[in-house]
Amino acid sequence: MKYYSLNGTTQTVNFKEAVILGQAADKGLFFPNEIPQLSDDFRQNWKSFSKERIAYEVIKPYVGDSIQADQLLQIVSETIAFDFPLVQISENIYTLELFHGPTSAFKDVGARFMSRCLQQFSKDSGKKTTVLVATSGDTGGAVADAFHGVTGVEVVILFPSKKVSKLQELQLTTYGDNITALEIEGTFDDCQAMVKQAFADKDLMESYHFSSANSINVARWLSQQFYYFYAIQQWPHPEPPVISVPSGNFGNICAGLMAARSGLHTGGFIAACNENDVFTEFIESGEYRPRASVVTVSNAMDVGNPSNFARVLQVFENDTDWLKKTLSSYSYTSEETTDAIAQVYRESGYLMDPHGAVGYLALDEHLTRNPGRGIFLETAHPAKFADIVEPIAGHAVAMPETSKKLFDKKSVSTILPADYTAFKQFMLHG
Ligand SMILES: *Cc1c(COP(=O)(O)O)cnc(C)c1O
Repeated sequence: MKYYSLNGTTQTVNFKEAVILGQAADKGLFFPNEIPQLSDDFRQNWKSFSKERIAYEVIKPYVGDSIQADQLLQIVSETIAFDFPLVQISENIYTLELFHGPTSAFKDVGARFMSRCLQQFSKDSGKKTTVLVATSGDTGGAVADAFHGVTGVEVVILFPSKKVSKLQELQLTTYGDNITALEIEGTFDDCQAMVKQAFADKDLMESYHFSSANSINVARWLSQQFYYFYAIQQWPHPEPPVISVPSGNFGNICAGLMAARSGLHTGGFIAACNENDVFTEFIESGEYRPRASVVTVSNAMDVGNPSNFARVLQVFENDTDWLKKTLSSYSYTSEETTDAIAQVYRESGYLMDPHGAVGYLALDEHLTRNPGRGIFLETAHPAKFADIVEPIAGHAVAMPETSKKLFDKKSVSTILPADYTAFKQFMLHG
């Protein structure tokens, strides 16, 4: 399997190079030059396969000979070492809970797969890699957890001081060892600008071999296919479900679309968005108008220019009529989102997080127009957004065990001004 750049230059790379580089030299997204098709044996028998075997067989053609079979099996087994339960909410609506991983959000899957791939590559080459990440909250935690203790990889995380939740801050600052947390006295945009500048800094490149862990990395993107198979594996009805995905950068839904194109039977997909609705608008009007993001209660989806947009188009070979047959999109305000959390909690006792709630709203509306059954993805545990869901539930929401433990750990971070020179000094001299 080769990967090429969606920006059109002719550079092609294998899986290993794509993972290490993150993006192509022309700054384009890597895309596989063919979408592998599930084998006949897989199509007939996969529902009785183990989670590990499904993940292995799905990702194997994408990895090619970059990782040996036994090592790849080990990597996927560690990646998916938690539950992905399908839970019924109402007669026609189910949710796939993706928050049973170590940081209680679906990003654990992609981050764990990517960290283990990089560990393997660093073992093979003997070179040390430094992963630089800017985070507004969730990504940094998933990356810190996934890379903690991974040999040959150092992680430096920049987060905006006082702008992440208490739990998120603990998820960034309590690991230590190969994880360094930098608390930047500025905004997320400042953090991101510093990371970008570092990637282009010749002085730093003499001492470091940098890599990124953002969602455009093919290892993070493609491993998110696994749980679409787990959803269908648990589906109790003969007609396949439509799947509603709370979307921001569109990496998650784009993985589901790849799974469908390789032969997984679904009833189509819904891109569920908050007020950052450039994609919904694109589906309705055919016009794509990226713009600055606005703040909502589902803040991990506050994206005004989804970084995987070009990939979503490429899945359908840039044929928007084909795209619209498979993919619908709806968007909702923060008020509609919190109302939905309250309503579903009242009617079924199920407490959604704000991201899952956007997925629920889109699915519910879609099923009113197109009767059938469907699944929305619950992308984070509601306790991660306690300030929003607790007033609605009227009581405290118990935190997952993995998160509780963080409160007993020592939090360590270095505070730096939002100034590139200070950051560079820190990287060169500590
Ligand atoms: C990142 C994130 C999303 C959006 O996922 P994309 O792959 O960027 O579309 C949705 N929900 C939660 C909780 C997230 O952390």
